[in-house]
Amino acid sequence: MFDNLSDKLESVFKKLRGQGVMTEDNIKDALREVRLALLEADVNFKVVKDFVENVRLKAVGTEVMQSLAPGQQVVRIVHDELITLMGGDQDNNLDLAAKPPVVLMLVGLQGAGKTTTCGKLGSWLRKQKRRPLLVPADVYRPAAIEQLKTVGRQLNIDVFDSQTGQEPVDICSAAVRFAELNGFDTVLLDTAGRHQIDDFLMNELERIKAAAQPREILFVADAMTGQEAVTVAGGFNDRLGITGVILSKLDGDAKGGAALSIKAVTGAPVKFVGLGEKLDALEVFHPDRLVSRILG
Ligand code: GDP
Repeated sequence: MFDNLSDKLESVFKKLRGQGVMTEDNIKDALREVRLALLEADVNFKVVKDFVENVRLKAVGTEVMQSLAPGQQVVRIVHDELITLMGGDQDNNLDLAAKPPVVLMLVGLQGAGKTTTCGKLGSWLRKQKRRPLLVPADVYRPAAIEQLKTVGRQLNIDVFDSQTGQEPVDICSAAVRFAELNGFDTVLLDTAGRHQIDDFLMNELERIKAAAQPREILFVADAMTGQEAVTVAGGFNDRLGITGVILSKLDGDAKGGAALSIKAVTGAPVKFVGLGEKLDALEVFHPDRLVSRILG
């Protein structure tokens, strides 16, 4: 019946008009709507619980402003708290200031969008006047190497000439040396994924991390997988320490609440969002846009 959270809260708060302050009792229904909206948007239930408690603490005792409808007032509190939870409007950009070549390592499950994102990120970096080298390091999935080479050709960005018979760690080390010698200032490692986290893969990624010394380890999360992405992000973070998240496939109907949970669980901010299969469909992440999407 109601489309979005603002409308729902507006109706819940009709009865609050004329009352002076928000109390435990009179905001109970509103908090219930907030909880449901967040769960519907795929935010992890534990994160939702803590979050709603936080909003409750902020709201109880607050005077009901004359200028704003109470519903809007709670939406404002929810909105600001959500932005804070996502790390605020800070500069979520990549750490590229180190001595070149700066290495960025992309990790995630198979199908999350790593290879596509690798191309998109290369294109974005070139717009920042950098000279990226794309490195295919997935020797297990048939045609993965060829896929990145094709992406590189489409974008006219150089791709390291990896071969399927090589060890991924050796590929990455050789690629960093190659970048040093040939004036590439940014190296993008497109690592292998699996359908689920396994020890073999994690072990390999740990060895690549040790050998290539990435400045950033970017976890590519498929927004469509919702809660699953949160568990997986936690697993990658425990073994590798991720520094940022790229949320792919946000052009679908996923609300993107997973981004919020991933930040809460790993501490790593979302840095980019993928908005389509095309190689220019990548945007720097803006917390306020995602919050508006979650709140509807
Ligand atoms: P990888 O296995 O992690 O390397 O994933 P791929 O890069 O091969 O992507 C898997 C599929 O997801 C491909 O069909 C991509 O075109 C698609 N894909 C990747 N990013 C996006 C995105 O932001 N939006 C949409 N709609 N599709 C995407």
